[in-house]
Amino acid sequence: MLDLCLAGTGGMLPLPHRFLTSLYVKCQGHALLIDCGEGTQIALRKAGCSFKAIDLICITHFHADHISGIAGLLLSMGNSDRTEPVTIAGPKGLCQVLSGLLVIAPELPFEVHVEEIDGSDAPISLGLMKIESFPLKHRIPCQGYTIEVQRAGEFLREKAQALGIPVNLWSHLQKGETVQNAGCQFTPEMVLGPPRRGLKVAYATDTRPVPAIAEYGRNADVLILEGMYGEDEKLEKAKERTHMIFSEAAHLAKQAAAEELWLTHFSPSITDPFEYESAVQTVFPNTVIGQDGMKKRLKFVL
Ligand SMILES: [Zn+2]
Ligand SMILES: [Zn+2]
Repeated sequence: MLDLCLAGTGGMLPLPHRFLTSLYVKCQGHALLIDCGEGTQIALRKAGCSFKAIDLICITHFHADHISGIAGLLLSMGNSDRTEPVTIAGPKGLCQVLSGLLVIAPELPFEVHVEEIDGSDAPISLGLMKIESFPLKHRIPCQGYTIEVQRAGEFLREKAQALGIPVNLWSHLQKGETVQNAGCQFTPEMVLGPPRRGLKVAYATDTRPVPAIAEYGRNADVLILEGMYGEDEKLEKAKERTHMIFSEAAHLAKQAAAEELWLTHFSPSITDPFEYESAVQTVFPNTVIGQDGMKKRLKFVL
């Protein structure tokens, strides 16, 4: 299962009642965070997300509202006695940006690994999660992320019995390992049914609508997109500033055949994003207006 928490829902600058957009995802003791603007560590604390558990921080792009909180978060993770290494992944140029930002956090009690990725790299594995990046269209290089938990096929006991595989080796095969017994080799494919539907979350903020969003977000359980402006009348402004309006995000969710759309990264000019809820739901009914600290647990469908 995958636990999601949208720690903040703001864009541009943190407000007293709205933290900057970031997503915390946890699966079997491993956690990852997407984006870390100013104040994200407070948002996480308020939402009850353990930042000591964060193994991976994925950055979408180098605008302050997405990265300026990273030194403070790492220092707090250090104060929480974390000693295991932390990986920070993001677009090309990340090493240079971090070398500046982390001057003020020189003595962390853990190693920081930096990975510059651009979508052509192999997915990052974190426990059962696979994290992949994809390109977006913003004023500066920006990328979205997908987080997937794959699910192996059903274990076919009759096949295992027919092949004479001892019961104590079944769990290894179930985990995808090859086993040996009495000089014979058995592979998972011999005893597993076809792969079953896993879990998928896709995340894209600070972008104009691009086909990659629907492509990478295809059949996502939760598609998290920016909704910088609520009204359709703000389309020109959104184009100018390379952001999206609510209805554009909803059209992408429809194209992607996502189960659910979460809107986030609201402009500080939006006082109440719920004002636009019914209008956006006419385009994509399963649209959820993001709220700071909003959580959801995704489980495999039987
Ligand atoms: Zn932003
Ligand atoms: Zn931006």
